[in-house]
Amino acid sequence: MERKPLAEAASQIASTQGLVAFTGAGISEESGIASFRGRGGLWDRYPPERFGTLRGLMAEFLLRPQRVAGFLQEILTSCLEAEPNPAHLALAQWETEGVLRAVITQNIDILHERAGCNKTIKLHGSIDRLRCVDCGFKQDLDETQLWGWARDLSLERIGRRQLWRALQKILSACPYCGGRRRPDVVFFGDLLPQDAWMEAQQAASLCQVLLVIGTSGLVYPAADIPMLAKKAGGILIEINPEPTPLTPLADLYLEGKAGEVMQELARQVTSIRH
Ligand code: NAD
Ligand code: ZN
Repeated sequence: MERKPLAEAASQIASTQGLVAFTGAGISEESGIASFRGRGGLWDRYPPERFGTLRGLMAEFLLRPQRVAGFLQEILTSCLEAEPNPAHLALAQWETEGVLRAVITQNIDILHERAGCNKTIKLHGSIDRLRCVDCGFKQDLDETQLWGWARDLSLERIGRRQLWRALQKILSACPYCGGRRRPDVVFFGDLLPQDAWMEAQQAASLCQVLLVIGTSGLVYPAADIPMLAKKAGGILIEINPEPTPLTPLADLYLEGKAGEVMQELARQVTSIRH
């Protein structure tokens, strides 16, 4: 009799030396961070052509400062309030055990890091970093600073001048060269950070098993990662409650929520390995 996909996936993961994970917004859904697409998602309320690009945000800043503050505040607080769920924790555990080589993520939240993953390749940047536009210097921020910004942006009625002051405080001059800074997050139309992209391509081409969790596979070039792994002979395992354009490529499709499926998968991998 054919084994269930979950048992087959557990056996593949338990026997490989080359596991890499590729994650998207869906892995953080059970932590309370809504995916941007989907009905009621962030892009429904804040259209991406206006809020997903730096140029659009600047235009909104002039016309509707309150909305820009609301958008930034919502992203910050939802990421800060969220806790890693069993899917983030299982990946971190596999990293500690030497099973997992890397996590390539499209997420800008910090849940992989907070779960304890040190080998996270961030394709779309991170909310906890600023980048100097002039010299490229990157500065990590701590959670106290991020909470402070969220508070500065949460004024009931924030006018253009107050928002400008809050943003100047957030994007203070580069301590290295005095240049202008921006959040180290990839907006629509931005290039991916080239070092992370190279690292991700390499990890995908060298992996034996790629575990794809919670991504719609619609955002390019990130969505090329599963294809790269497949072309190099890797096995694709996908976890998602709904089929995606990547599902026909997958060797094993595990239908369900990331936290629930990963908890069971981790349990089965442990019982095979002991
Ligand atoms: P997406 O919003 O395009 O797709 C999310 C996918 O997750 C869908 O396929 C959905 O079926 C699936 N999903 C929903 N709930 C799930 C669950 N509980 N378990 C597993 N899967 C679930 O996300 P994307 O492909 O990552 O692309 C969106 C882009 O927006 C990303 O590139 C990212 O930069 C950004 N984003 C980041 C965050 C975050 O940092 N947490 C959140 C939203 C969007
Ligand atoms: Zn600088």
